[in-house]
Amino acid sequence: MYEIISEEIRKAAILNAVRHEGKANPKTVLGTLLGEHQELRAQANDLMPIVQAIVQEVNSTSLQTLREVVNQKWPDQLSKQRQDKERTLPPLTNADKYTKIVTRVAPNPDFVLHLGNARAAILSHDYAKMYNGKFIVRFEDTDPRLKKAQLEYYEKIRQDLVWIGCKWDEEYIQSDRLPIYYEVGTTLIRKAAAYVCQCKPEQFRDKINASLPCPDRSLTVETNEERWNKMLEHEYKEGEAVVRVKTDLTNPNPAVRDWPAFRIIDTVKTPHPRIGSKFDVWPLYNLASGVDDHLLGITHIIRGKEHLTNMDRQLFMYNHLGWKYPEAIHYGRLKIQGMDLSKSKMMKAVEKGEISRVDDPRLGTLAALRRRGYSPKTIRDLIWDIGPKPVDVTISWDNLNAMNRKIIDPIAHRYYFVANPIEVTITGFKGTLEVHPPLHPEQPNLGNRTIRIEPMVGKATLLVSGNDSDVLKSQPEVRFMNLFNFKPVDTGSGKNFAGQIVEDSGHHSKAPILQWVPSTDNDNVAVQVLMPDGTQVNGFAEADLQKEGVDSIIQFVRFGFCRIDRNSSKLVTACFAHQ
Ligand SMILES: [Zn+2]
Repeated sequence: MYEIISEEIRKAAILNAVRHEGKANPKTVLGTLLGEHQELRAQANDLMPIVQAIVQEVNSTSLQTLREVVNQKWPDQLSKQRQDKERTLPPLTNADKYTKIVTRVAPNPDFVLHLGNARAAILSHDYAKMYNGKFIVRFEDTDPRLKKAQLEYYEKIRQDLVWIGCKWDEEYIQSDRLPIYYEVGTTLIRKAAAYVCQCKPEQFRDKINASLPCPDRSLTVETNEERWNKMLEHEYKEGEAVVRVKTDLTNPNPAVRDWPAFRIIDTVKTPHPRIGSKFDVWPLYNLASGVDDHLLGITHIIRGKEHLTNMDRQLFMYNHLGWKYPEAIHYGRLKIQGMDLSKSKMMKAVEKGEISRVDDPRLGTLAALRRRGYSPKTIRDLIWDIGPKPVDVTISWDNLNAMNRKIIDPIAHRYYFVANPIEVTITGFKGTLEVHPPLHPEQPNLGNRTIRIEPMVGKATLLVSGNDSDVLKSQPEVRFMNLFNFKPVDTGSGKNFAGQIVEDSGHHSKAPILQWVPSTDNDNVAVQVLMPDGTQVNGFAEADLQKEGVDSIIQFVRFGFCRIDRNSSKLVTACFAHQ
């Protein structure tokens, strides 16, 4: 058994080494092996030393020798690997310790998901699938005051998850689970692991910053239980009582010391969107999230490193309760060049009315990326490329666009679109002209479009992009794509041109090639393109564009890839993706 596996490991290691200047990566090699042998996943930890030994041996062989081995044994692998960049995730830590891997994504439904959230969702989902485990979605909506949930976002988040291919096995909503948290609260108080603090916030802060207990910390269990019951019986007002979990008062981080687990929120004033004013004792993040991770049997938490302090806090509660903390993987920050992925900033822009929709192209939300024409596969490929690395990653739009182009370029239908058009009046037509350019230059099976030009007495006006005015002014001869050459004459200070068809110029001419659109209403359609910076470009496209449904991703020739946002008989609205 291990001999056969060794041969496979060697092959994966050699192929990996050849792709990376002779240095194979043991984690990638193990990932490749586990990708092909699901049955070995539980033994990942045992296999790692074998993989490491083989990788070491392979890496000490010269690159030249490795290339020769590949050429002899697996000649088709080199070209294949160059085309399909191999994507693997490193194995999960201690996966073999658990009979079933359980992961979760835990969004607060106070906004839609953004690119950063997609990382937690995709990694958690894909690891669960990789190990034949379970993936849970948990809506964390226990802050009816500051991070208040909104009803519409529960469903929008579900749509986002479905879009990026993260189907969940179970769903929980924390606002349904308050009695469960109350039970844990009672247990903590009875174990003298928590107390009800009635201090004013400043008083408590002064004490805790000096590593000193507040007077409530030494209350008897009986007094605490009395106060806790008073809380549950609505006898405190907002801000009058807080349940705190006992930690180490000398912990170097004051924010970890005796953290708040429950508080009173006046839900008459700020009702919860799902359960209204029914409850006024609310668990704080670390209590609710920590309790659920344990009760739902989460084995691996995959989240950003900003949660490291939360883990420190929750570990105290886990110790009080005799629970074992799940395996926690904290990845670094994900940034995208020139865009703020901070949820609070995006929400502020929406609240202030600077941005009216959560899918505005200026936002880094999944809804915005979807609206612009990014494929969910692009998002998945990106997340797999960066994986759960602890280092911060900044991705460039160029990279993201290149990944997306690979996916949409082979399928996007091509159309002519002229932005801010100017007119060119052409003479020399011999009646109505119909041309049938292909919908895709390399995919004849996709079919053709039809563009009609209906001249009056041999004369017709075509529209070209305003940007091409310079070409018309400076070039003696210009070609209309799929049409003919003509010699442009400026007849209106760069805004209007005329031209005579040049017969028999063939395709050999070096004339610059412009896209064009008929000027007659029946043969074109008005188009508005919403750009990534929120501006709008207006123009016209050939009439056949109206056959495209909403959500179609198309390419406007010499302009860029766009997604059809709306399509009515008079106007097509599109969102710009990239060039
Ligand atoms: Zn106190």
